[in-house]
Amino acid sequence: MPFPSDIEIAQSCKMDPIVSVAAKLNIPEDDLELYGRYKAKISHDLWNSVKDRPNGKLILVTAITPTPAGEGKTTTAVGLAQAMFKIGKKAALALREPSLGPVFGVKGGAAGGGYSQVVPMEDINIHFTGDLHAITAAHNLLAAMLDNSLQQGNPLNIDPRQIVLKRVMDMNDRSLRNIVIGLGGKANGVPRENGFDITVASEVMAIFCLATSLSDLKERLSRIIVAYTYDGKPVTCADLEAQGAMTMLLKDALKPNIVQTLEHTPAFIHGGPFANIAHGCNSIMATQYGLKLADYTITEAGFAADLGAEKFLDIVCRLGGIKPNAVVIVATVRALKMHGGVAKDKLGEVNMEALAAGIPNLEKHIENMNSFGLPVVVAVNAFPTDRPEELQLVEDKCAALGAKVVLSEIFAKGGEGGIEMAKAVVEACDQPNTFHYLYEPSMSPKEKITTIATKIYGADGVDFTADAEKDLKRFHDLGKDDLLVCMAKTQSSISDNANLKGRPTGFRVTVREVRLSAGAGFLVALCGAIMTMPGLPKRPAACNIDVDENGVISGLF
Ligand code: ADP
Ligand code: MG
Repeated sequence: MPFPSDIEIAQSCKMDPIVSVAAKLNIPEDDLELYGRYKAKISHDLWNSVKDRPNGKLILVTAITPTPAGEGKTTTAVGLAQAMFKIGKKAALALREPSLGPVFGVKGGAAGGGYSQVVPMEDINIHFTGDLHAITAAHNLLAAMLDNSLQQGNPLNIDPRQIVLKRVMDMNDRSLRNIVIGLGGKANGVPRENGFDITVASEVMAIFCLATSLSDLKERLSRIIVAYTYDGKPVTCADLEAQGAMTMLLKDALKPNIVQTLEHTPAFIHGGPFANIAHGCNSIMATQYGLKLADYTITEAGFAADLGAEKFLDIVCRLGGIKPNAVVIVATVRALKMHGGVAKDKLGEVNMEALAAGIPNLEKHIENMNSFGLPVVVAVNAFPTDRPEELQLVEDKCAALGAKVVLSEIFAKGGEGGIEMAKAVVEACDQPNTFHYLYEPSMSPKEKITTIATKIYGADGVDFTADAEKDLKRFHDLGKDDLLVCMAKTQSSISDNANLKGRPTGFRVTVREVRLSAGAGFLVALCGAIMTMPGLPKRPAACNIDVDENGVISGLF
């Protein structure tokens, strides 16, 4: 019998009412705002009653450099949380909420896979509790107020050629990347070039995920730079007086959502910024609820450890005052073989040479996580084609770096397949660690970027193009040198060249542009073209999605 699809497994799951799932974390029913029987938001009141409790342990799930062979961070995070309950530990998940873009494009679901998924997966993948729509509305309110200011005599002296704020929508629609607005004469606005990003690329999303309260959210929104004046001065959201109304639109969205895994483990799913031009992690508030309510909180950072984990550790942990206890690096034998040069259609064959050649990618990520002072567990996400001798080789190589290697069978077996992993993670969390950040905000932006590129990517140095230099000069003049750095580079290599697999050496990183996310609180260093509005593929996943007359969805992964 073929292995059932993710949606078949999810639909065969008998969910518990969310009230009883939340009770596992002692969340009183009064603090739940129900969205039907299986989804809820957590009321802001709960925070006041738990905020002074000691934190539980925090585990970050990250991965080796992605290949088309797949890794499975979300699946592993979900399976690990399920396995924690199997060994008698109170655990919670903190995960990103999916964007609609990938649902209809190619990537597929963001709710885990196999017997390690969060449910109701259809709801989570589509409108969920409306957070993405609220963020879209808040962003576009700011954009509308900006263009209205131009229309109403431009009292802020905004230079229409220096407007940096675009509009957003939560859909892959490449034809909206570059548009002209305001056509049709005097009553219909000021004509200018504009464009759309996908909602998850909005700075509002990044801010939403970094905010620690409604007032912090409002304060950060007010700092967003939307444009520059004719004499080069920044125009902010506060200048347009938009932050109050934007915060109002986000008031309920900011409450973390709680759902469950297939094994009824509580999962906070909240916020989901891009992992390149933003930091790629769920909201700080969701993680903090986990830390206060569970003994073990498992969270995931987008992309591989060089991007997602570095930003989680340097940006999220710093801004949220959060200290992690252990890192799980997800690897697959298939992906390691691809890093060793094997083509995708040959991954089923044993190839020890290629595996050995690919393992340095994993080794570099282990070294990087150790350099933050954190213990590492390597989870080998099992595929049916894996062979014992291949797993042995991975184990031998990682042991030399002090990392424990476990075989994770959570995709095929759920929590039961993750017991060894859960035990290893508990052990790692019990070790004393020396967690520290990689750089200090007081370093110059160039020093910060160079530290990340040389220490984490293994680059020989960093080159800044003339454009990047110009950007840095402008932000220096604005007094923004002490912001954190958010690297935007390819996810497909530890370097800034997508073609360099394994563990690249002897390369330099080129920073081509620097952007300022003043509300989020970081400078974005772009190493190459970063797509902020994806397009649909030749045959979109949407073509396979359907719903029958009983409302049962098919074709969604
Ligand atoms: P990531 O979070 O790293 O992007 P996911 O956990 O979302 O990865 O997994 C990506 C895809 O791979 C999902 O469709 C998932 O069902 C699938 N997948 C993950 N692990 C396995 C596995 N062990 N065997 C088969 N498919 C898997
Ligand atoms: Mg994921």
